Amino acid sequence: MRFIDEYRSPDILRGLLDRIGDIPRPMTLMEVCGTHTMAISRSGLRPLLAPAVDLLSGPGCPVCVTSERDMGKAVAIAGIPGVVLATFGDMMRVPGAGGTLLEAASRGAAVKVVYSPLDALALAEREKDRKVVFLGVGFETTAPSVAASLLRARERGVENFYVLSLHKLVPPALRALVEMEGFGVEGFILPGHVSSIIGAGAYSFLADEYGIPGVVAGFEPADILQAIYALLGSREGKPSVDVAYSRAVKAGGNPRAIDILYRVFEPADAEWRGLSFMPASGLGIREEFREHDAGAWEVEVPEPEEDGKCRCGDILCGLIKPPQCPMFAAVCTPDNPLGPCMVSSEGTCASYYLYDARGGRGSWLRG
Ligand code: SF4
Repeated sequence: MRFIDEYRSPDILRGLLDRIGDIPRPMTLMEVCGTHTMAISRSGLRPLLAPAVDLLSGPGCPVCVTSERDMGKAVAIAGIPGVVLATFGDMMRVPGAGGTLLEAASRGAAVKVVYSPLDALALAEREKDRKVVFLGVGFETTAPSVAASLLRARERGVENFYVLSLHKLVPPALRALVEMEGFGVEGFILPGHVSSIIGAGAYSFLADEYGIPGVVAGFEPADILQAIYALLGSREGKPSVDVAYSRAVKAGGNPRAIDILYRVFEPADAEWRGLSFMPASGLGIREEFREHDAGAWEVEVPEPEEDGKCRCGDILCGLIKPPQCPMFAAVCTPDNPLGPCMVSSEGTCASYYLYDARGGRGSWLRG
């Protein structure tokens, strides 16, 4: 299929929707990017695509996939006297073993919201008598900037700057998903931002080994619709991984960002909410930077409680949709979130609550 870069024309959008609606057999697809999840909900695509396409959300929200145990470690580190934990705002209310960072702050822990790892580095340079730990979450997209901040810390001799790396890698999570018993997804809408770093070739195993197609998509309604249309068409031929977002994603990704990333990090085992421990699915700090690795600190982390109320893990694996969680909207809301899928601005529960539950149907179609 030839993909076009025209993504604002209502005529093109209507044409794509009509063609998708004409398919003879419904198809189940999954997006694995929190920004896609939000874009799909915000533009009201789910009801417009049903019943031809059933869209599930996968483990694409970096805040949501962070495990309770890892959040517990962040809370424990924040509680060490003389430490400032610097984090993105979304992480403040994520429940973990031992509570949230917000609760830790209310008990007196030094937790500071920053907008980038470089802000955290600047904080460390200002507050030389304290250890500043940046809480590194996210996928291959954010890890290069965290790596760059560690390289800069080394260059400038900032010895009180540390990183707690909870970064995750997308391809191992996709492999774990497709190997799950009963996994019924027939195609993936692949993440635009992550792919701009790692390139589309990183997912070729989906088509080659599992016969599941994937299309890298941008974030406008037309980008997503084109990707979906291509995935529907792929049922006819040999499964492949394609790019419908060539204005940002190159086949080989961004070699410079990858180089920076792997100068500081290396693949490491990681625990994911919903997917448990997976080998080489995260990023650990290399031995050469160990003096900046807060993950190596010995801290006591309480065992995560299994209260079974929050179904975030099942949502991240595409096993259920938010309205199937008994807590959704009744008890759990963005003002009173019980789990990270409702906390995060890219969480599936938050996106359903804010947009799908209100039945939005795409004002963009009116041009
Ligand atoms: Fe968890 Fe709330 Fe989502 Fe239910 S609605 S899965 S409790 S975040």
